[in-house]
Amino acid sequence: MAAPPQHLIVVGGGMVAQRLVEAMRDRDTAGAWRVTVLAEEPRAPYDRVALTSYFSGRDPEDLSMGSPALWDDPLVTLVRGTPVVELDRAARTVRTADGRTWAYDQLVLATGSSAARPPIEGSDLPGVFVYRTIDDVAALRGWVEEQAARWNRPVRGAVLGGGLLGLEAAGALQALGTAATVLQRGTHLMSAQVDLGGGEALRRLINALGVAVRVNTSTVRMRANRRGHIGRLDFADGGRLGVDVVVVATGVTPRDELARSAGLAIGARGGVVVDDTCRTDDPHVWAAGEVACLGGECIGLVAPGYAMAEVVVDRLLGGAAVFPGADTATKLKLSGVDVASFGDAFATTPGALELVHSDPVAGVYTKLVLSDDARTLLGGVLVGDASAYSELRPMVGRALTGDPSAYLLPAGTTGRVESSGGDLPDDATVCSCNNVTAGTVRAAVTEHECLDVAGVKACTRAGTSCGSCVPLVKKLVVAELTKAGVSVSNALCEHFAVSRAQLFDIVRVTGLRTFSEIIATRGAVVGGRGCDICKPVVASILASLDDGHVLEGERATLQDTNDHVMANLQKDGSYSVVPRIPGGEVTPDGLLAIGQVAKDFALYTKITGGQRIDMFGARLEQLPEIWRRLVDAGFESGQAYGKSLRTVKSCVGSTWCRFGVQDAVGLAVELELRYRGLRSPHKIKLGVSGCARECAEARGKDVGIVATDRGWNLYVGGNGGFTPRHAVLLAEDLDTATLIRTIDRYLMYYIRTADRLQRTAPWMEEVEGGIDGVRAVVLDDTLGIAADLDAAMARHVDVYEDEWAATLADPEKLRRFASFVNAPTTPDPSLAYVPERGQVRPATAAERADTSVLVAGTTLAVRS
Ligand SMILES: Cc1cc2nc3c(=O)[nH]c(=O)nc-3n(C[C@H](O)[C@H](O)[C@H](O)COP(=O)(O)OP(=O)(O)OC[C@H]3O[C@@H](n4cnc5c(N)ncnc54)[C@H](O)[C@@H]3O)c2cc1C
Ligand code: SF4
Repeated sequence: MAAPPQHLIVVGGGMVAQRLVEAMRDRDTAGAWRVTVLAEEPRAPYDRVALTSYFSGRDPEDLSMGSPALWDDPLVTLVRGTPVVELDRAARTVRTADGRTWAYDQLVLATGSSAARPPIEGSDLPGVFVYRTIDDVAALRGWVEEQAARWNRPVRGAVLGGGLLGLEAAGALQALGTAATVLQRGTHLMSAQVDLGGGEALRRLINALGVAVRVNTSTVRMRANRRGHIGRLDFADGGRLGVDVVVVATGVTPRDELARSAGLAIGARGGVVVDDTCRTDDPHVWAAGEVACLGGECIGLVAPGYAMAEVVVDRLLGGAAVFPGADTATKLKLSGVDVASFGDAFATTPGALELVHSDPVAGVYTKLVLSDDARTLLGGVLVGDASAYSELRPMVGRALTGDPSAYLLPAGTTGRVESSGGDLPDDATVCSCNNVTAGTVRAAVTEHECLDVAGVKACTRAGTSCGSCVPLVKKLVVAELTKAGVSVSNALCEHFAVSRAQLFDIVRVTGLRTFSEIIATRGAVVGGRGCDICKPVVASILASLDDGHVLEGERATLQDTNDHVMANLQKDGSYSVVPRIPGGEVTPDGLLAIGQVAKDFALYTKITGGQRIDMFGARLEQLPEIWRRLVDAGFESGQAYGKSLRTVKSCVGSTWCRFGVQDAVGLAVELELRYRGLRSPHKIKLGVSGCARECAEARGKDVGIVATDRGWNLYVGGNGGFTPRHAVLLAEDLDTATLIRTIDRYLMYYIRTADRLQRTAPWMEEVEGGIDGVRAVVLDDTLGIAADLDAAMARHVDVYEDEWAATLADPEKLRRFASFVNAPTTPDPSLAYVPERGQVRPATAAERADTSVLVAGTTLAVRS
């Protein structure tokens, strides 16, 4: 009989704990270990590195990592909100705050760090925050909102500490509308990563964002205002600063208290001392992540923590792994401020040479550190233009090809060295957060058939943490596919050598309006006739551009199956019919009309997730008659078959709901009527919720709108389905007119630039600048195309017509709705049904054989 699994307890439910459990479940195929994670925080491990994005999303769920299924594994137990308060090494047990005692065979301390609170008088006043957990940032946001409502002036914020974290926090304060000041005790910002020259350039960039910076400033006291809240900071030089909120970001302290009281060795500056296998001086206790003191230091970055987690798992499974050393390269995640530092950034290697390019006018300071023969890259600092970071970082310790100064030229300049990725050695680390090498990325393409960046990310984890390596991953994927002879030009298909976005522009600018003209003049092959890829794409582009009928002339031949008959083909060969029900609002008479149609044609009815009614089991030749009845009753096509707007789902909103703050249904109806029939690269769904309770699940939609007291918050890029995504915040508190204009532009920008069959979420991963780039285009018109996008949407709204109403009025179009072209009134005999729960469903093969159970289904007589 197999031995029962040993018990591994992990103390702390942070990022490193998550990686450790994932690695154990991946590698422990024999089930030798069961793992219990005892976590102090009330939630599953989340992406602390992306903590600041909480401000653009607000939803803690957005920060979740990995597959939630990990925590359902029978060999994994996650105990939340349960801090460990005592470690008894002799008994091999831990005690949790709720009084329970847990026995272990092996224990991993993954308790991370806490934000340091400097011993400054007043640092415990209300209004002084740290920046480490979701609860911290949620409390900070709440406080700032409260202050904003209280004062008749901008909220005054200060951040103590001008390091990576302090600058991120200052960006967040500023985004919350505060007048933020960064206070740095040392000579320059990010002094642990960049030199004085870089720090100066960085200060100018931070100032340009509207954030003030005071260097050489030591805070000695925090003073309360009359309410007892933080009101003023006093500095060592006698200066003062009035403040309403303070974020302390002056460093972290390892959470080594359990280890200390259990008598384990502690580093001189804190942290649990471990050897290069991550084991403490107790053979049953390990430490990994920020709490581990390895080689005399604790490392405040996630990548070394992940590497430690892998080492511990390897050792527990009998391996011989040792910690490979830490890559301390960093890139600031502050929108609009490009800063990176990697390798020997301070040129401490004997004989190291520094190659500096400084352009204060352009706001750029870049430096490469090279070996004494100026060939091998040792490190670098990039401020103002860190576009070379993802390519240069993996090259540390390797010879650069060509003139090193060419790497420092501004992006896009002639002569700038840009690697294609193909020249990177296999063992070069591309993603340091997840320790993924160029070779692993290549293998994902060649051996695991990942043919795009999304596939490689899912397969290797490269680019899934801080994301700074994604441009390089993309280059590697393209280089590998090109090498394998796979066409990775953006070409749509063999008939068009351009991408969908380029073809869209060609059609828009040239005014070509038929597929024959387009392929004849712009096709890649002479005499090409098109294929199943390019024909529907061209059909969709033409529909997006001039809203001509999908079955008009030659266009009818371009459509894919569902568009071809304006209904959704089902597994038994019948079709389903979905009338539009804007915003999910339907009158009793409308319901009766739909019910009568369904009854008369014996259609199975089902309420869809998009708040409308789907009728199944219609035969091809019945579609016109069904639609005639629906159109007469005031319905129109719901385009459930099209790559176009599907539905605008809404909650009941302020009209009926006690909590609602805006009329969600009214807006949903307005939006659905505005965007109905809008053809796009993929289906589009919208949602509107009448308050932050979000009953319409709007953030699971391509465009999600959530009402606020002051207007509407607009979220974009969400979807359900195979890879669910939460939409991210594009803009807050918009009035209705601005909201609609912004959605117009967002949708049109997507329609013009997305790839074939690309939904908004993956499009936003690839579109230039991501969410910030989209925001710049649709809100600030940085590309100067806003008027054009507005005009395109206005045109769509003007020329919209219901496809089914137009079809019913055109005998030529109606001719295609016959089961057998030679016998238009003969029903398709292959359709067979059985009764179920008061309706009908397609018969199974066995039921078809037993004709006694079959019912007539849709052959019932039709009432006139
Ligand atoms: C805003 C921000 C931005 C960051 N950006 C980056 C970045 O860009 N790149 C980068 O590499 N790193 C970044 N970091 C650092 C990175 O988040 C940490 O290195 C990483 O989270 C460390 O993981 P960990 O599991 O060791 O510790 P943590 O993630 O801190 O997790 C430790 C967990 O243990 C829990 N715990 C502590 N004591 C106990 C106990 N006695 N019982 C039970 N549970 C306990 C804690 O509550 C915590 O949940 C950033 C951090 C912050 C806050
Ligand atoms: S989202 Fe708000 S307004 Fe809408 S139904 Fe839910 S609670 Fe009511």
